[in-house]
Amino acid sequence: MTRSANLGFPRIGLNRELKKALESYWKGESDAAALHATAAQLRARHWSLQREAGIEVIPSNDFSLYDHVLDTSVLVGAIPPRFAGITDPDARYFAMARGTDAAPAMEMTKWFDTNYHFIVPELHRGQRFALNAGKPLDHFREARALGLATRPVILGPVSFLSLAKAKDDGLDPLDLLDALLPVYAELLAQLRAEGAGWVQIDEPVLVLDLSGKQQAALEKAYAALGKAGSDILLTTYFGDLRDNTELAARLPVAGLHIDLVRAPDQLDAVLAALPADKTLSVGVVDGRNIWRTDLDAAFGLVTKAWDHIGPERLEIAPSCSLLHSPVDLEAETALDDELKSWLAFARQKLDEVSALAIAQKRGRGAARAAFEASAAAIAAHRASPRIHRPEVKARAAQAITLDRNSSFASRREKQRARFNLPAYPTTTIGSFPQTKDVRQARAAFKKGQLDQAGYDAFLEQQTESAIRIQEELGLDVLVHGEFERNDMVEYFGEQLDGFAFTRNGWVQSYGSRCVKPPVIYGDVSRPAPMTVRWSAFAASLTDRHMKGMLTGPVTILQWSFVRVDQPRAETCRQIGLAIRDEVLDLEQAGIGIIQIDEPALREGLPLRRADWDAYLRWAVDCFRLSASGVADDTQIHTHMCYAEFNDIMPAIAAMDADVISIETSRSDMELLEAFRDFNYPNEIGPGVWDIHAPRVPDQADMEALLHKAGQGIAPGQLWVNPDCGLKTRGWPEVKASLQNLVAAAKALRLAAAG
Ligand code: GLN
Ligand code: ZN
Repeated sequence: MTRSANLGFPRIGLNRELKKALESYWKGESDAAALHATAAQLRARHWSLQREAGIEVIPSNDFSLYDHVLDTSVLVGAIPPRFAGITDPDARYFAMARGTDAAPAMEMTKWFDTNYHFIVPELHRGQRFALNAGKPLDHFREARALGLATRPVILGPVSFLSLAKAKDDGLDPLDLLDALLPVYAELLAQLRAEGAGWVQIDEPVLVLDLSGKQQAALEKAYAALGKAGSDILLTTYFGDLRDNTELAARLPVAGLHIDLVRAPDQLDAVLAALPADKTLSVGVVDGRNIWRTDLDAAFGLVTKAWDHIGPERLEIAPSCSLLHSPVDLEAETALDDELKSWLAFARQKLDEVSALAIAQKRGRGAARAAFEASAAAIAAHRASPRIHRPEVKARAAQAITLDRNSSFASRREKQRARFNLPAYPTTTIGSFPQTKDVRQARAAFKKGQLDQAGYDAFLEQQTESAIRIQEELGLDVLVHGEFERNDMVEYFGEQLDGFAFTRNGWVQSYGSRCVKPPVIYGDVSRPAPMTVRWSAFAASLTDRHMKGMLTGPVTILQWSFVRVDQPRAETCRQIGLAIRDEVLDLEQAGIGIIQIDEPALREGLPLRRADWDAYLRWAVDCFRLSASGVADDTQIHTHMCYAEFNDIMPAIAAMDADVISIETSRSDMELLEAFRDFNYPNEIGPGVWDIHAPRVPDQADMEALLHKAGQGIAPGQLWVNPDCGLKTRGWPEVKASLQNLVAAAKALRLAAAG
């Protein structure tokens, strides 16, 4: 019979219990037993709510104390040598995740195109693997003791190796497949012996462009594992199998899961390719966004699959693990009922999966209430004037030129005449330390203990003090410090129409770290200026140049839950227009230099190369839309970080910002090679201070970096600035570092003059 299934549940807990337990354990305020007890309670609670929702196939081993990829490194015994001496398993696990004084943490990076971050496995030449199956076995038994036969979730060997980093030159982690497979085979045998009929093996790499070597690795892996133990549900998500469809369908495993939310069109091809004896799991409920499912539409996909393969081999599931969804909409207090009626968090998604399975088994009438509620909400959403605002859509439909009035060369002349900056001009990226005082004042204001006037006076005093410090340091282009901002996206979202904020919509970003992304639910517009007050106030305090500071449309989009009833590009264009208005208001207020941050531009890249151009085209257009309205002598900056740019240089150049500041110091300026090789025409501020480390960089370090930068980039093109904003640093190190930074710039000027 058709089964309702889940692929993974959020681990953090409705009230972020896991975060609190971890942080108290790390501080030494509670012991490992307390941490494990909280974790076990969360698992038990999550299992039982899945059962109560009517989910028939419930996962285990989806829980993790920190990250499931880190768990996989431990599972297969891939412990980097620098941690091998730590004997306590908990201490070692968290040392790998977070580092110790003696051993730096393992690297962390983004999990595919989500905002979840995983710990990158580290592999060596001749790497040995050894099975450490404690966690999946224990969790399986733990669930069984609660009366549940679960389906363990394991990250597949080819995805594991593909995500790993080789720590020896010339090593390709995939070369370690032969050494790794026996460990997986043994795990599957042990799980089967324990009574696991099925395991879910995740191979999300199947939605990527695969090399021949990866394809061969998949063939080899599943030839070895398909019959090694429990039946395997090969699980793919986040996209379309496309050219890997044949391969995925053919691998000798018992079942295949596909993401029909991201890629509904792949169903036909998969049905055509799937051998007659395989189970198909259709992911029809969005695991990574917050919108209520259109059950009629989802049921259409289910029915199509059912017509083709019959009821025995069908599973209905979310598109991917619910890890990326907040836990429970019912607990949400900040949203009004109408808005809530359009949403579904993890718990509600389970109900949707369950309703679809009931409808499939017993007819739609058996799930009538769920279908009717879904249809009513979808219809109300479609017609709602809160969502669809004709004046916003009409404006977005107007053609607006994305080009500045003049070429960069002639803008530069006008800007030089206006600003009269020295060679190697110095600036910062925007934020100054968000000290305890700043956070306390904001919290007091939010709680109503501090009134608006008192809060404003506090912010004015912080801003003024930051300006005096910058003047004393001798920086050339000042910033106001962003003390009024909690977060670079939230600050804007709170002032734009079409955004909502939850009180409890947390999702895990990494480890104990959770984020509460804004919800872009409707057409976006800007009712009033957002930053002019603070920029104008700051500018009024000084004779130096003041840089206005905005978050760009792509980054606002990328770090929010985005509506799915219109293309992302359209939503982004609406945001771009709102930012454009803000840019023009800043210009009007006399702010001649305006920075539009786009740190998330690169992370928006689609998973498949073939889709990059289309994305980059609209993303760059939205940036240009926000920036292009100004006069030639207004200088537009942008800022990017956490990324490699080599492969998107043409897009960065097409943004046509007068100045770009980028994170480079950690890569020892390597990144600049891309700008040099591309002959990047506009001005560049390569970060010379790694603000992620507490260390104060010497003047000599920064001079050396600038010399290195100067090898490929003309001196007239170079700016001097840190890698990123300074909100996480303390004032003493900021002052000391910026003093050295200004001295480094002055030394280069002297050298150039002499
Ligand atoms: N202007 C922002 C700041 O300085 C930029 C932050 C970022 O790039 N992530 O904080
Ligand atoms: Zn940055």
